[in-house]
Amino acid sequence: MAERESGLPRSAEAVIIGGGVNGLSTAFQLAKRGLRDVVVLERRQLGAGATGKTGALVRCHYANTPESELTHRSLDIFRNWEQRVGSGQCGFDPVGFLQVVSPDHEASLRKNVADQQTRPGVRACAGRRRGKRQG
Ligand SMILES: Cc1cc2nc3c(=O)[nH]c(=O)nc-3n(C[C@H](O)[C@H](O)[C@H](O)COP(=O)(O)OP(=O)(O)OC[C@H]3O[C@@H](n4cnc5c(N)ncnc54)[C@H](O)[C@@H]3O)c2cc1C
Repeated sequence: MAERESGLPRSAEAVIIGGGVNGLSTAFQLAKRGLRDVVVLERRQLGAGATGKTGALVRCHYANTPESELTHRSLDIFRNWEQRVGSGQCGFDPVGFLQVVSPDHEASLRKNVADQQTRPGVRACAGRRRGKRQG
């Protein structure tokens, strides 16, 4: 690491801005690939953004493909934490996920479920509410 000024290195092989899950995962993956000079810059504290507020739900059903791809790939890490990360457990509990949508969103939900069905390791299906709506 190059000479420091004000506590920060003057140069690094990789500089990541943001200490949320994406920044820290990127730093982790770079380190895993052999980079030893990775700096994460965080303006508040680690997890200060959305990461610290998450409901911790793990699901692959997103309206946009890149997000679905990202979460699908991350499933392997959640499922095999010790092997992929090197130690510990993340507490992943694969209890399933139920999403209820209004009839207006049924078509996009069905498309999304069809996309999920093409992905290995993800079981997804769409159903329909039985009976008449009350009230
Ligand atoms: C209430 C809530 C519930 C959620 N529940 C879920 C859930 O159940 N499941 C799920 O998968 N997702 C959930 N999400 C979404 C998920 O939390 C985010 O998609 C994810 O945390 C985004 O991570 P990130 O690293 O991209 O961003 P952030 O976690 O927002 O990290 C960005 C970081 O960058 C820092 N930063 C920004 N600009 C600068 C700068 N110029 N210099 C230095 N640092 C900077 C910020 O301080 C912050 O710490 C939820 C989000 C919210 C808000």
